[in-house]
Amino acid sequence: MKIVRYLQDGFARYGALENESIVALEGPLEALRKSPDAKPLRSADVKLLAPVAPSKIVAVGVNYRDHAKEMGRELPAEPLIFIKPSTCVIGPADPIVYPPQSQLVHYEGELAIVIARKASKVSEKDARKYVLGYTILNDVTARDLQRRDVQFTRGKGFDTFAPVGPLIATDIDPRDLGIETRVGGEVRQHGRTSDMIFGCDFVLSYISHIMTLLPGDVVSTGTPAGVGAMKPGDSVEVEIEKIGCLTNTVIAPS
Ligand code: MG
Repeated sequence: MKIVRYLQDGFARYGALENESIVALEGPLEALRKSPDAKPLRSADVKLLAPVAPSKIVAVGVNYRDHAKEMGRELPAEPLIFIKPSTCVIGPADPIVYPPQSQLVHYEGELAIVIARKASKVSEKDARKYVLGYTILNDVTARDLQRRDVQFTRGKGFDTFAPVGPLIATDIDPRDLGIETRVGGEVRQHGRTSDMIFGCDFVLSYISHIMTLLPGDVVSTGTPAGVGAMKPGDSVEVEIEKIGCLTNTVIAPS
């Protein structure tokens, strides 16, 4: 199933995307099902939101071998994790606001795991049972501020710094998917998730032994090589095989 979230009559609702139409879903995240008398909507007629509203985003840094190499870093012995606040989240086609405090804002195209049910101290073997599906996240980063600080909170935490979407693909295998980031149509990142140092199941298990993951939480699994700058006016697309393409435009602060 392809799960989207959209705005209808002022309410955010979940829906199943089927070709060009959306069928409303109901029930808790771990057991979403089609509403029996929902009439399909044309996807072009509704505003798509980020496909989930997480309580937190836990992100993994330096998790692709080729990206570790370009950053001049040793391969980490265990995942490096940090949190992006829920207030970073924007949906597909929403603008990324370039903060006035930074002169170097980077894109980072990433595969993200969406949690279906409360996950605490989950084994790697059982990790998939806690996964609703997979989506795309652009881990937007003020690189100059990140380099200046010890903590990543400022460089990674500005409002609009986590575009998510356009949908959550359930029933896909995340282990070897093509991932590509384009700025103004030009390819900047081109990798495969099989280059990850720590795979999705391991990362979910590892984080769940530190903090409880709640339904809707997002785990972003790191970015391949080719990170680089964006500037106001740029259109940034992150495309992942079997999921889709997340497109956002960078704007100057008002
Ligand atoms: Mg990242």
